[in-house]
Amino acid sequence: DLLVVGSANADLVIGVERRPAAGETVLGSDLSVHPGGKGGNQAVAAARLGARTALLARVGDDGHGRLLLDAQRAAGVDTVGVLVGGAPTGVALITVDPSGDNSIVVSPGANGRLTPGDVRAAGSLFHASRVVSTQLEIPLETVVEVVRCLAPDSRFVLNPSPPLPLPPEVLAACDPLIVNEHEARVILGDALVSERPEDWARILLAKGPRSVVVTLGAEGALVASGAGVARVPSVKVEAVDTTGAGDAFTAALAWRLGTGDSLAEAAAYAARVGAAAVTKPGAQESYPTAAEAEAL
Ligand code: ADP
Repeated sequence: DLLVVGSANADLVIGVERRPAAGETVLGSDLSVHPGGKGGNQAVAAARLGARTALLARVGDDGHGRLLLDAQRAAGVDTVGVLVGGAPTGVALITVDPSGDNSIVVSPGANGRLTPGDVRAAGSLFHASRVVSTQLEIPLETVVEVVRCLAPDSRFVLNPSPPLPLPPEVLAACDPLIVNEHEARVILGDALVSERPEDWARILLAKGPRSVVVTLGAEGALVASGAGVARVPSVKVEAVDTTGAGDAFTAALAWRLGTGDSLAEAAAYAARVGAAAVTKPGAQESYPTAAEAEAL
């Protein structure tokens, strides 16, 4: 079983002719509200593929929180670990102009109140999970506690997004650490001495994770472990909206690792799922079933 520990946000989207400058008011389209947040996205992506999935997260005692819980349950996610209250539900305020460029303000809200104590109190979820997958839209100290609460035989997957320098204890637990190009650059920091993704994968691996995956959008991905660096081809698709593709990739990879796939096998499967996710608009709304991913 897969446990996702992470954020849940309501994405509030308004289309505008032009994004407003300081002090300016512009009129936009009707508001659309979408379930999002990297944790929520990962849990829905895995459940849609057929994975037994639980989410440990925090939402507010408000309409957005109920919307997010409904979306998780509709996808088949076990929401017993979704805590309610403490702050308003996390929100992303998104304006999108006709060229597709956006401006985004995120209020972490309840996501910022998911504490190490909340993680310790969820012990039974950790014992039931072969794989635990996390991102960084919750406090870093909470991610550190996730690492400390892992069951002895379970595997830890981290997508460090938004990227921050990671403590050695967290890096050492990652199997794999999954980064896109932007995240690789930030995590590498001063160690970014090459423009070749193969080198990023090797240098990241030397920082302590047991394995590393670098995702390269339409170029697919790289997997790196003690066995070396290997390229995972992408699937050629007509990209409509890449929102949430990385979350779908990570969820699919984490689930497949739990079923016994090798890292390269799991990444090849995840590349199909990521590709399927870019063929439809939205994040959670775009995630494929296993049949849809295999049909690609
Ligand atoms: P993120 O969404 O985190 O920036 P990427 O853009 O690297 O991550 O996408 C994650 C994965 O989704 C890629 O490794 C790839 O497998 C798949 N993917 C993303 N964009 C495309 C695309 N245009 N065509 C095919 N596959 C894609």
